[in-house]
Amino acid sequence: MSESMASKREPVVAIIGYGTGGVNAAIALRTSGYQGTITVFSNVDTLPYSPILTSYYASGEKTLEQCFPWSAEELAELSLDVHSNAEVLKLDVANHAISTAEGTFPYTKCVIATGSTPMCYGFPKVEGKGGYEPIVLRTLENAERLKGVLNDDSCERVLVSGASMVALKTLEACLNRGKRVTLVGMNPHVLDFNALPESAERFERGLLGYGVELRLGQTISAVKRIQRQETARNGRDWQLEVTFSNGDVDYFDEISVSHGMKSNLDFVEPGSLEIDRALVVDEYMRTSDPDVYAAGDVVQALELISGQKRIVGIWKNAAVQGACAGKAIAAELAGKEPSPEDAYKGSISMNTIAVKDILFISSGTMEITPNRTLEIREDDDMTVLYIFEEAEEGDRRLVGFNLVCDHSEEGSPAYDTGAMLTLRIESKAATKPA
Ligand SMILES: Cc1cc2nc3c(=O)[nH]c(=O)nc-3n(C[C@H](O)[C@H](O)[C@H](O)COP(=O)(O)OP(=O)(O)OC[C@H]3O[C@@H](n4cnc5c(N)ncnc54)[C@H](O)[C@@H]3O)c2cc1C
Repeated sequence: MSESMASKREPVVAIIGYGTGGVNAAIALRTSGYQGTITVFSNVDTLPYSPILTSYYASGEKTLEQCFPWSAEELAELSLDVHSNAEVLKLDVANHAISTAEGTFPYTKCVIATGSTPMCYGFPKVEGKGGYEPIVLRTLENAERLKGVLNDDSCERVLVSGASMVALKTLEACLNRGKRVTLVGMNPHVLDFNALPESAERFERGLLGYGVELRLGQTISAVKRIQRQETARNGRDWQLEVTFSNGDVDYFDEISVSHGMKSNLDFVEPGSLEIDRALVVDEYMRTSDPDVYAAGDVVQALELISGQKRIVGIWKNAAVQGACAGKAIAAELAGKEPSPEDAYKGSISMNTIAVKDILFISSGTMEITPNRTLEIREDDDMTVLYIFEEAEEGDRRLVGFNLVCDHSEEGSPAYDTGAMLTLRIESKAATKPA
């Protein structure tokens, strides 16, 4: 179908992906006055859910119902035409058409909000009869599998590979269900790019205190599924023989792998949209095609500290970017220019995680450049690292911080400090001259 044919019909806004980016785009379209068709393509048949809560659901700390931020009634008010179990296979930008197994659908404007998929880069092929696919964590389906493992008494030892936030959330879920956990990470410290060694060390001491075995600076070289020597409770008759890069061999019941995320963009035809590590967008979340917008983990948008377009894959960004796309599309379909007030202001990276009682909070950058200095304040229960940047006028501004506290109580001074420092970085970054 040609663009001119599509534009002669009533406008159709297509949203690919029914997560927070997609839902917030739909909400913004409606609250901005767009009353036309919104067609949503979702590759699952559930209500939109929060990937953040999957580890808590798996460990039994949250119910399934709590994983759905919007009720069916709230979503019904948006009058969306939702195609469930309709994975988008192709986005034909030139012809304004979206293909699923059901058929081909025209659009006037489209929002891509398909999130990302966990990767197992470097995880070796498992040898032995029956093979083995490692546990990953993102979708509700992934969470159901982890839940099954955590509920299984015959699983006693879990190897967590990776030391990012998702890996640590998986580790926490395992600890909370009484599993013995070993963490293997290729870097010398946990928390990968989110922490500097001084704070990561405090976090590691906390993990050791909870009985976690740490294998840092190592990777998994080989995994073999073998017959178990002694049959475990509940009759598990197999186990996984793991060889580490330093030559050590150990035995586990299950392995979880969190080796990074990849934006879900396989349905985008190569060369049809500008993709770097993800879709490159402008301040209205427009991709290189004026009728295709994007939001969330598929997007490379302005990151305020670096001034560069980067993926900052957090919930708040997906929500704000989805809303930004929805408002801009509503304006354009009403024949207006999007309002600069509704433009995306940029974001900073921010993370909070508590494993048992050990709290970690970070914001901003962890990059130490020649014009940045590091200050460490440490007391009995808390380490805070501040990264300051020298400004030209001799001024200095906070551009990043890490905080690790041995106690995690909501509303405690540690949480207050984290919130206050995050605000300080955000407000300064937002006013930084271009
Ligand atoms: C375990 C875990 C913990 C996390 N913890 C935090 C946290 O503490 N704080 C935080 O801010 N962020 C956290 N995040 C990140 C946060 O969940 C994401 O940044 C956010 O959900 C991104 O929203 P999104 O709309 O881009 O993607 P999603 O929420 O993943 O939604 C995308 C949807 O698109 C669907 N889809 C994919 N491909 C297709 C296709 N081809 N056709 C149709 N539909 C498709 C997917 O099934 C999915 O439902 C965490 C993530 C994980 C996995």
